Amino acid sequence: MRYEDVYRRSIEDPESFWAEQAEAIHWHVRPRAILEYDDPPFRRWFAGGLTNLCYNAVDRHLDARGDQLALVAVSSETGVTREISYRELHREVNAFAAVLRALGVGKGDRVVIYMPNMAEAVFAMLACARIGAVHSVVFGGFAAHNLALRIDDARPSLLIAADAGMRGGKVIPYKPLVDEALAASKHPPAHVLIVDRGLDPRRSVVEGRDVDYATLRERHLGEDVAIEWLESNEPSYLLYTSGTTGKPKGVQRDVGGHAVAMALSMRTVYDVGPGQVMFSTSDVGWAVGHSYNVYGPLIAGATSILYEGLPTNPDPGVWWSLVEKYRVRTMFSSPTGIRVLKKQDPEFLKKHDLSSLKWLFLAGEPLDEPTAQWITEGIGKPVIDNYWQTETGWPVLTLLPGLDLKPIRFGSPGLPNLGYRLRVINEASGEDAKPNEKGVLVIVPPLPPGCMTTVWNDDRRFLASYFGHFRDLLYSSLDWAVRDDDGYTFILGRTDDVINVAGHRLGTREIEEAVATHPGVAEAAVVGVHDELKGQVPIVFATLKQSNTETADDVARGMLKRVVDQLGGVARPARVYVVNALPKTRSGKLLRRSLQALAENRDPGDLSTLDDPGALEEIRGKLARGPDGAG
Ligand code: AMP
Repeated sequence: MRYEDVYRRSIEDPESFWAEQAEAIHWHVRPRAILEYDDPPFRRWFAGGLTNLCYNAVDRHLDARGDQLALVAVSSETGVTREISYRELHREVNAFAAVLRALGVGKGDRVVIYMPNMAEAVFAMLACARIGAVHSVVFGGFAAHNLALRIDDARPSLLIAADAGMRGGKVIPYKPLVDEALAASKHPPAHVLIVDRGLDPRRSVVEGRDVDYATLRERHLGEDVAIEWLESNEPSYLLYTSGTTGKPKGVQRDVGGHAVAMALSMRTVYDVGPGQVMFSTSDVGWAVGHSYNVYGPLIAGATSILYEGLPTNPDPGVWWSLVEKYRVRTMFSSPTGIRVLKKQDPEFLKKHDLSSLKWLFLAGEPLDEPTAQWITEGIGKPVIDNYWQTETGWPVLTLLPGLDLKPIRFGSPGLPNLGYRLRVINEASGEDAKPNEKGVLVIVPPLPPGCMTTVWNDDRRFLASYFGHFRDLLYSSLDWAVRDDDGYTFILGRTDDVINVAGHRLGTREIEEAVATHPGVAEAAVVGVHDELKGQVPIVFATLKQSNTETADDVARGMLKRVVDQLGGVARPARVYVVNALPKTRSGKLLRRSLQALAENRDPGDLSTLDDPGALEEIRGKLARGPDGAG
């Protein structure tokens, strides 16, 4: 089948297209309508249909593939590998669901999951899905403040946490972060369920609140927990992501649309079917982890490899050794992951038998041409750039080797995915940009199945954040883009203050707020600047209060500590520059883009509105002399 024909049908005849795709999953009650769209941009895919993500991911496969591996959880940190068949997964998920029930969790309740890439994180997610609870996985690299913000927004009835994570052989206890987050939150859950790997023997226990998973599992193992059938548009999970304000947005996903989008993309994009193996190196705390470590491969009846650890431990061939051992067909990683390997001996790419591997997908940040070239030649397999967002939950721009692979063009994530009606719009006029002309990438609603349904508890924010940018009702991706004559789209970076660090999305506002909690800081501006390895890194420019008595170096170190304590190591600024003034317009608007340009050695642009031209000169000098608080 030709991509062009299938794509055209998905756009011109969406209801018949999606009705056909819906056949790929199990419905307890079939939808009464494929699409209800009487309150744009809100839409209801598969309205009235009853289904369940856990049933589709686990129970449905028991007869045909009960003994096949469903999940392989490999940790190069603890040295433990767990190979779990669909039958074992069913047993573990039921036990976990029974524990959730025993703790009083029911349909619609929120459950925060704060765990690294370990099998129980997957059991916990599927157990929530089984009983209709709404999970909100918080990335284990986030610190207490970030966790507290998410708890207060979601108001969970339970928090599930690991005792600790590990990174590069170092144990990172989670429990102190959980205690701190709960102390700071206005709506702490009644219970904290701890999954103990014995990594933190000194872990504290809060009597009456903290419960031990292993003890409860023992009690409930062997129980069968009935599936809670959900209407297709009910929430399945929340995943918080950064925006332009300091408050993260709870991206809300549906049930039926998500299941159908997963089934379709596993087949047409990732080319993985029942019995085949997919290895995504993502963390379960990100959108890729949700879609292509958990729901996608399991709904497809495939085997999913989950990896905890660095790509270089025990050696830089560790990922490829897993490809060889488990006969991985499709691998999914990030450009940063590959750039890490690029700094190592290329011989590690040659040491393992990669004959099973057909495709390497890379997503989450721009894929630079040298990296794409290096890895394509290194493994001798097609490398496919994938563009999507937490909000969409599955690729927006991609090539579709499972359907009809079009030529790869380095630097471009390719063509519109099935069901996505895309335009590139001139920011000012709202008209379509011409080929090769820069504009904003937008999705013409209704958004396809699987994309976010709203911002948790905040329809107005959903409308204002995504649909309020143009005259017409359009979903703004908040990314600049350009389309070439053949329809290949190139992504040119964000239109807002979101930056992308090693594929992780960070709001500069969040970092500014953390920095500004330092008593010596008067004002701070955070911008993302180019970095060879991570794509972008945050750097801070700050002015100090008159009353401050500390040295600039001490304040800079204090600022770094506050960011790490409040937001986690992922958000740690690469450099801090203490200056006398920040560049502002006469009306007081901070010129972030000029700051960013200066820091990247580029032309700072039109400075006619600048209030104090001396500020830029000072910053130039400061950048040349070096940061504060280094070393
Ligand atoms: P996240 O929601 O964390 O996945 O971040 C989504 C953002 O990452 C997008 O809005 C883009 O700015 C960026 N992004 C994701 N994938 C790509 C890609 N393949 N090429 C360029 N930018 C990307």
